[in-house]
Amino acid sequence: MTLQVRKSSIQGKGLFTERPLPARAKVGEFTGELISVREARRRAQGAKRIAIVEISHTRAIDGSVNGGPFQFVNHSCDPNLFIRIAYGRVEFYALRHIRAGEELTCDYGESHHDGKLPCTCATGKCRKFI
Ligand SMILES: [Zn+2]
Repeated sequence: MTLQVRKSSIQGKGLFTERPLPARAKVGEFTGELISVREARRRAQGAKRIAIVEISHTRAIDGSVNGGPFQFVNHSCDPNLFIRIAYGRVEFYALRHIRAGEELTCDYGESHHDGKLPCTCATGKCRKFI
């Protein structure tokens, strides 16, 4: 897997693929510190950058602590990845064929931002807020 973290036109740093990825391929996994949902909500309060995924009603993973490159996947309203959460793992799969050099994005869906963070994905399908 040839993934690279670099500056993104969406925001901050993003995750890019240097190789084309076929549709439905598993691209990787979101890793980090395993914490409680209560702790996740505490950390999300007032944080500038949040990289937390809730994996159940009680458990969450904070990718900003000992996390891998998938903590840098930005939100897009027209993403090229989808997330599958199963058995405590957060896996990323290609939603379609992804070209070499593309930024990898996913739809955050319901987020800690409560729909108040302006979206900068700049796609035709943009919902304007995350
Ligand atoms: Zn958007």
